[in-house]
Amino acid sequence: MATSFVFQPSTTICNILNSNDKFPVRRILCVGANYVAHAIEMGRDPSREPPFFFAKPSDAIVNADRGLNIVVPYPPQTNNFHYEMEMVVAIGKNATNINVEEALNTIWGYGAGIDLTRRDLQKAAKDKGRPWELGKGFDNSAIISSLCPASKIGHPDNARIWLSVNDIIKQDSNIKKLIWSVPEMISFLSKTMTLKAGDLIYTGTPEGVGPINKGDKIVGGVEGIGEISINIS
Ligand code: MN
Repeated sequence: MATSFVFQPSTTICNILNSNDKFPVRRILCVGANYVAHAIEMGRDPSREPPFFFAKPSDAIVNADRGLNIVVPYPPQTNNFHYEMEMVVAIGKNATNINVEEALNTIWGYGAGIDLTRRDLQKAAKDKGRPWELGKGFDNSAIISSLCPASKIGHPDNARIWLSVNDIIKQDSNIKKLIWSVPEMISFLSKTMTLKAGDLIYTGTPEGVGPINKGDKIVGGVEGIGEISINIS
């Protein structure tokens, strides 16, 4: 008997630079406290507490290449809505129990992203030892550029990462300052769960996170990978 769906299944996609092909998103994994200066600004001691992971629903993705003038609504239930500029890794192969040395082989490509955060709800959860979903996993909370295939750009490990709010630079660092490198993140995750093609890893934000308000224009990028912009309504 043919299978029929009780409603139309949906697939979240990312655009690919200079291509009509699309990258189907399976899930979104995010790294917390993966730059020393950001860990410190969040009140953590990076010498005592290693980076950690959390997740967002795949349909939180917003494709927002610079120039598209994408509008993102200010989310409900927050008075402290923050940007976090991040490099994003797009996984292209299933990966279980991968060594650091093999990890780059599982990568399809890279993008530039913003991990939008309801900081007040995140803090409330943190203070109570509760999960972070309400602070991190809301509608339109995972901004992304078009993805660049590693077959074209290689595996960047030294590139400027920056973000501006209303043309004022707020974040300006380099992905070489990641505490856990991309291969280390993939290896760690693959020993915890099976990574699969379509998984995105938001690799953490450098220092300089801060609030955004209705009417703000956010622009950011990772040099050689992508640039994004959003307008908050
Ligand atoms: Mn983040």
